[in-house]
Amino acid sequence: MQNSIQFQEDLLKWYQTHKRTLPWRVDNPNPYATWVSEIMLQQTTVPTVIPYFQRFLGQWPRIQDLEKASLDDVLHLWQGLGYYSRARNLHQCAKKIVTDFGGVFPSDEKALKTLPGIGDYTAAAIRSIAFNKASVVMDGNIERIMARLFVVKEPLPSAKSILKSYAQSLSSQIYPGDYAQALMDLGSSICTPNNPSCSICPIQKYCKATEENPEDYPKKQMKKKIPRKHATLFWAEDLNGRVLIEKRPAKGLLGGLMGFPTSPWEEVSDDALKFAPIEGKWMPVDGTITHTFTHFHLTFSIVRTVVEHKTEGVWVKKEDLVHYAFPTLMQKVIQRMEEERRAAIGA
Ligand code: SF4
Repeated sequence: MQNSIQFQEDLLKWYQTHKRTLPWRVDNPNPYATWVSEIMLQQTTVPTVIPYFQRFLGQWPRIQDLEKASLDDVLHLWQGLGYYSRARNLHQCAKKIVTDFGGVFPSDEKALKTLPGIGDYTAAAIRSIAFNKASVVMDGNIERIMARLFVVKEPLPSAKSILKSYAQSLSSQIYPGDYAQALMDLGSSICTPNNPSCSICPIQKYCKATEENPEDYPKKQMKKKIPRKHATLFWAEDLNGRVLIEKRPAKGLLGGLMGFPTSPWEEVSDDALKFAPIEGKWMPVDGTITHTFTHFHLTFSIVRTVVEHKTEGVWVKKEDLVHYAFPTLMQKVIQRMEEERRAAIGA
């Protein structure tokens, strides 16, 4: 963008009259309050955070007070806010700042990032808001604004570094704190994910997305389709109503759990019967069993046989299967075979 100074001025002018009134937004922000608010705002909305923030600062007004508090008390106050690791990190971080930094918040981004629970975003936010030092604050709102201003075609998350470099090119060296908060407010009130209010946007004249559909930005990576795998499951019974089971290998998916013999789980499987654990007349069972793992969908076709002679392997009475550690997938098989049995006897 040609005129980044003018851009900053237009944004800051809008901020002066439209900024949100928030309890952590004061004339001389202190790093402790900024830090508490930023941690609380992770994954949580502003209206939910406000009463928690006020209670927190009321109970522990300084970092030294928080350092002396018991973790139980901190967790108790946090109740209802969720993501409790944030509360544990706050408590741990207070101890570290008192012990390692003499109770004074560091303003250096590198030092900030050594503290528990403080990553790129929080370090940059504390540095710019509490210390008014130049920093590139990147959150979802600011990424969206940059993607729209510059119509970035690269999808997220791979576009993150491009978006950051655009943000850097526009960032204010003179008013970094107000500038970062102005972008945050613009993202939450004007440049919203859906129906952005472009007609009243203070930076509309710089925005290339208005020539297209702003809602198309930022671009998102298409979710990868997860593959479908198939296998044949072998249900072998003997004349005494015992079923052949096996323990899955200790390593790998469902490792160490019980199951029934199957052919390999593959995207294309043919000639599955060659993997049958015993010789027999294998008959197909109607229907299939489906299950979704994190990385693939699995479909079992079941074949069954009845053996007359004792063979090797672990044979368990059907009523005793409940005593074994079968994963959900295999429990679906047991249930399906029970339905099959009932249908066969007309029960
Ligand atoms: S003009 Fe519209 S799309 Fe562009 S920054 Fe403003 S609100 Fe967002």
